[in-house]
Amino acid sequence: MTKKKSLDLSSTLRQVRDPIIEVECRACGWAGNYVRAELVKKHGASVTFGRLRRMSALGCDRLVDSEGDRCGTRFPCLQPTVSDGEASG
Ligand SMILES: [Zn+2]
Repeated sequence: MTKKKSLDLSSTLRQVRDPIIEVECRACGWAGNYVRAELVKKHGASVTFGRLRRMSALGCDRLVDSEGDRCGTRFPCLQPTVSDGEASG
């Protein structure tokens, strides 16, 4: 019974094989994507998603909130599809 190692922000680009890396911030309601090959070319395959997240969220005010990092920027590819069954409204 081996559990598949889940990816997280300490994972590197090398561990994710998706050609397109999606990124989204639910708190701000934006979403975008990166071409993996471009990221590897710019930052190397050993860059972590934690670092990519900081870079992605630079435009987000919540990232530097007075209470700290409150930004919801995340990479959907790091998690298996989550069914929260809740429509945002
Ligand atoms: Zn944000």
